Amino acid sequence: MKVFFPNSAWVKTRERLVLKGGRFAKIDLKVRYGVIIHPKLGPILIDTGYTEEVISGTKRGVMLDLYARVLRPRLNKAEQPKAVLARMGYGPEDVRYVIVTHFHADHVSGLGQFPNAQFIVDGAAYKHLRSTPRRGNLRHGIFTELLPDNFSERVIELCHLPEADPGYGLPVGHDIFGDGCAVAVSLEGHAKGQFGILMTLNGSPLLYAVDVQWLACALTEGRIPGWPSRLVADDFTAYKHSAAIVADYIKQGHTAVFCHDPETSAYDYLPETIAK
Ligand SMILES: [Zn+2]
Repeated sequence: MKVFFPNSAWVKTRERLVLKGGRFAKIDLKVRYGVIIHPKLGPILIDTGYTEEVISGTKRGVMLDLYARVLRPRLNKAEQPKAVLARMGYGPEDVRYVIVTHFHADHVSGLGQFPNAQFIVDGAAYKHLRSTPRRGNLRHGIFTELLPDNFSERVIELCHLPEADPGYGLPVGHDIFGDGCAVAVSLEGHAKGQFGILMTLNGSPLLYAVDVQWLACALTEGRIPGWPSRLVADDFTAYKHSAAIVADYIKQGHTAVFCHDPETSAYDYLPETIAK
């Protein structure tokens, strides 16, 4: 199994908003998504990052248009999901699964590009999304127009997958492919039902910790930002708990990848080293 993380886009933010005691200066956050090349199932995506649907999609409502104007993501055309897959000889129709870690726009933007994919989701988060009025979802950065029209028919809920203990002090989760190579672990707090993925590569663990923090150093240096994360978090107590779990995992000497960290990761996408 191969796993790597392309960068779909950059978004500017002030460092102090994402790092306690950080500078006032603006930094470029990445917006990663994951690609798993599974030996039996082929290419599988972990989220999609930002895609053109957020910036110029015709289905966008007024609020999504406003969101894009305020955040102004700059798409990385070379590392958009379809471009990355094409370089490996795959078309969008070859993707059978997209693992949706949570429903924020920068994670689901391109789901509509994969006509044959089923979507692996946290069932409670999806139920909450469906039962929440549109305005409530918007307040949490969820734009339902980004989901394909037949999304509900293509959903696989984690709770229907076998339970698995990922080890490393992480909570018991669900074995996504039934072969133990990727376990979904709950990392609640940032968004309802957010989950990370513990993968095992050549005997070593790799945790995709999604949006538990923007910057890894906020965890390793004890510099979790205060009020901005409280403002953004779905549940601030759970947010701090998930941060502590991931900080402990990193302290054990294991590798974690975050969606937005500008620092280069050993698992970032390098076209020259990824062959089909
Ligand atoms: Zn998020």
